Amino acid sequence: MTSFSDLNLDPKVLKAIEATGYTTPTPIQAGGIPPALEGRDVLGIAQTGTGKTAAFTLPMITRLGKGRARARMPRSLVLAPTRELAAQVAENFDQYAKGSRLKKALLIGGVSFKEQDQLIDRGVDVLIATPGRLIDHFERGKLLLTGVEIMVVDEADRMLDMGFIPDIERIFEMTPFTRQTLFFSATMAPEIERITNKFLSAPEKIEVARQNTTSDTITQVLVEHAPKRRDMTAKDKRAILRTIIDRDSALEDNPLRNAIIFCNRKVDVDIVAKSLKKHGYNAEPIHGDLDQSHRTRTLDGFRDGSVTFLVASDVAARGLDIPNVSHVFNYDVPSHAEDYVHRIGRTGRAGKLGTAYSIAVPADQKYIDAIESLTEATIPRGENPWTPPGARSGSSRDESEDEGGKRSSSRSRSRSRKSSEAKDAAESAPRDDAPKADTGRDDTPSGSRSSRSRGGRGRSGGRDDGPKVVGLGDHVPSFIELSFDERRADPA
Ligand code: AMP
Repeated sequence: MTSFSDLNLDPKVLKAIEATGYTTPTPIQAGGIPPALEGRDVLGIAQTGTGKTAAFTLPMITRLGKGRARARMPRSLVLAPTRELAAQVAENFDQYAKGSRLKKALLIGGVSFKEQDQLIDRGVDVLIATPGRLIDHFERGKLLLTGVEIMVVDEADRMLDMGFIPDIERIFEMTPFTRQTLFFSATMAPEIERITNKFLSAPEKIEVARQNTTSDTITQVLVEHAPKRRDMTAKDKRAILRTIIDRDSALEDNPLRNAIIFCNRKVDVDIVAKSLKKHGYNAEPIHGDLDQSHRTRTLDGFRDGSVTFLVASDVAARGLDIPNVSHVFNYDVPSHAEDYVHRIGRTGRAGKLGTAYSIAVPADQKYIDAIESLTEATIPRGENPWTPPGARSGSSRDESEDEGGKRSSSRSRSRSRKSSEAKDAAESAPRDDAPKADTGRDDTPSGSRSSRSRGGRGRSGGRDDGPKVVGLGDHVPSFIELSFDERRADPA
C-alpha cells in the first residue's frame, strides 16, 4: 500500500500531514498526487469526503515551494462553488502549508473588496475564490491571471448545477494555456465532459467509487407520518423533530449531541430554526440569503459546540466537512436522491457512528422510491414517537402555535391557519436548489438543474393522507371511511 512518504511530497508537507494524523493516502490522493507533482493535468472523479482537497492541495504546496509571488499575479488559483467550500479549502491549505512560506488569499462574496485587494496587491501564491467574486475582482482591474501556473476547479458538477460553467470557461480563458489544471467533479455530465475536453490536456483520469452507497457507520431511520390535514404537515413535522431530539438526547448509546437539520426550502430553514429556538433549543439557520459574516459565525459556532442545531439548506451545507456531527435530520425528504447521500454523509464521518432520521409524509413517497433505487437499499422504517395532538383534546400547546413557534391568540390562530394554507400552496413551488432568483452571486443557483429523481409516482394512494380505518382493510371505499372517521372532521 502507498504511504505518504512514497509520494515525493515536500518534507514540510509530510510533516504537516503527520500532524493531522493521516496515516495512508486515500485512493484519490494515491492516484492524483503523483501525476500532479509531475505537472500533468488531473481529472478526478470524486466526491467530497474522499480526501480530494488534500489530493490537490498537497502537490500544489510542494510545486509552489519553488518560486515567488508577484504583486497582483497569483501563481495558482482554486475555484470552489460556494463561499463555505472556498473557506474550507483555505482552512485545509493553512493546515497543510504550515511551515511553508506560501501566501494565500480567499476571495469570496460578503467580505469587503478592500482587504482582499490589499492581499492581492502584496502578491499571493494561492488564490482561493468563488467564480463570481473572482470575475468581479478581475473586472475591477485589480487582478491579473496571466501568472497562474496551477488552476484547480473543485466540485465542477456543483458549478454546473449553480450555473457557473460560463464563468469557469471565461476564467480558463484568462489564464495561460501552459497552466496545469487539476479538475474535480463527482459526476461527468456532458457539459462537464465538454469543458474538460476543451481545457485539459491529456489528463490523468482518476475515478474513485461513487458514493451512492451510504456509510455503514450511519444508522438510518425513516419516520413516516400521515398528517390529519395537509395544512398540519409542517407543524406535525416540527413536533416529531422535537420528540426525536428529546428522546435521542437521553440515549445511552450514541446519544444526540448535535444535529444538522435539512430543509428543502430557505423559508422552512428559517421557520424550523425559529420554532426550535422558541422551544428552548439552541438552533441557528444557515442558507444562501443570510449574509456571509452571519453564516461564518453560525458555522464556527456549530463547529465549536456553541450552536447545537444547525438548520440548513442543501446549498449552504453541501460538502461541508464538520467533524463530530451525531445526528442528521431530513426535516424534508430531499427531492434529489443524491442529496440524501450527501446530507446523511455529514454524520458518521471518519469511522464515527452517526444517526440520520428522515421525516416523511405520504407525498414524499416518490422521493423515497428514488433514494432507495439510487442507494439500492431500503431505508429502515422506525416508529413515530410523536402522538398527534388530535389524539388529545382541542387546545394543546401544539395547536396554539404559529409557524414560528409562537403562542398565539384565537384570532392570530385563524391567521396562522391561513398562512399554513398559503404555505401549502407554495409547497409545489420550486425548491431551494431549483433555478430561481436569489441573492449573492457566488452560491446562487442561477443555472438550471434538471429533475434527477428517479422512480415513478408514489406507492401510496390518496387514502394514505389520513388515518386508516381499523378492521376494514385497505380497500375501503372512501365514503365509508369518511362516515366512520370522526377525526377527519375539521377541529376548527
Ligand atoms: P475532502 O474530501 O477533501 O472534503 O476530505 C474529507 C475528510 O477526509 C476531511 O476531514 C479530511 O481531513 C479527511 N482526510 C483527507 N485525507 C485523509 C487521509 N489520507 N486520511 C484520513 N483522513 C483524511
